[in-house]
Amino acid sequence: MADVYEEIPQSVMPTYARIPVAFVRGEGSYVYDSNGKRYLDGLTGIAVCGLGHAHPKVADAIARQASTLLHTSNLYRIPGQERLASRLCEISGMDNVFFCNSGAEANEATIKIARLYGHSRNCAMPHIVVADGSFHGRTMATLTATGNRKVQAGFEPLLAGFVRAPYNDVESVEKIAANNKNVVAVLVEPILGEGGIVIPDDGYLEALRGICDRHDWLLMLDEVQTGNGRTGKYFAFQHTSVMPDVVATAKGLGNGVPIGACLARGEAAKMLLAGTHGSTFGGNFLACAAANVVVDELTEGGVMDRAAELGERMLARFRDRLAGNNRVKEIRGKGLLVAVELNEPCTDLVGAAVDAGLLINVAADTVIRLLPPLTMSDDEADAMVDHVADLIDAMPGQTP
Ligand SMILES: *Cc1c(COP(=O)(O)O)cnc(C)c1O
Repeated sequence: MADVYEEIPQSVMPTYARIPVAFVRGEGSYVYDSNGKRYLDGLTGIAVCGLGHAHPKVADAIARQASTLLHTSNLYRIPGQERLASRLCEISGMDNVFFCNSGAEANEATIKIARLYGHSRNCAMPHIVVADGSFHGRTMATLTATGNRKVQAGFEPLLAGFVRAPYNDVESVEKIAANNKNVVAVLVEPILGEGGIVIPDDGYLEALRGICDRHDWLLMLDEVQTGNGRTGKYFAFQHTSVMPDVVATAKGLGNGVPIGACLARGEAAKMLLAGTHGSTFGGNFLACAAANVVVDELTEGGVMDRAAELGERMLARFRDRLAGNNRVKEIRGKGLLVAVELNEPCTDLVGAAVDAGLLINVAADTVIRLLPPLTMSDDEADAMVDHVADLIDAMPGQTP
């Protein structure tokens, strides 16, 4: 086993600036390191383990599937995949699902659907409207769609076929509609995740839906981070009256087993046919065994209502605890996507939190981002808020 006090071996490509700690096991809302130190998990592997660590039913389903059959390929029927697809369609009102292994791949499928849809309407150069500040993945198409230069720098030439608009700006999309006849779709996150938990104004998705309807564009939502109960509904769009044409999800769907999904409806659901897209691993027996349990647990146990309630509880406690702290710019969230934005960069808090036995994340340099388990107790939620507030209070520099 790797000793975390040694340098990370050069045999691992240094694509991540890793925090020098390694966990050896997890249970519920906690992970433990090799010294037995316990950490309250306010990140869940970036919105992945929404049901908490070592969830007994997920673990059991994985173990049983592993000793039965792991993989056969999509050249044959996979009953668990068929069940999972039906369940996701029932929950979302979408018509069909393509399974893959990650969020980037789920977005790749949305982009391919938009291009096929464009060509089906005799548009030779189909374009997709994407938003500044968005994050859609690290593949060439999804990093091009991403609205963050840091993600793109060095990887030019980027792909053609994307048009950018500021996030939460309906008028700029109207302008694009008036001037660019090659647009066939909009791809946006219902809430910016990596961009710093940016919640758009009420009516944003409705307005985009209206533009898409008027111009026969597809409304495509990246719910990789916001999906699977995170915001208190299965998908974030379900807080609105909007029905999208395409939805990408991943992260929380397998509670730690890699799986992604692209859901489509109406015309968009007719685009990907035999031979046009595929994935060796996508939707295999193992991934679907885990995801079926996740979907059942999320929809049957009141877990999503609880996530909404816990989110409100955390926001209220943060507002109380940090009232008058002049470092704090804004406290915001939806369900258990919770953010405390400061007036100054605070990436150092991540390491200070680890020392204090807490896992948090900082997005966009100044936004403390919490993505805790949907299954937390009230006490764990309160402890998390108090921990984070203490860390903010203890920041060096000007006293609040
Ligand atoms: C994490 C994320 C992705 C990329 O998912 P990967 O599984 O890392 O490829 C895409 N979109 C959003 C909104 C995300 O949060």
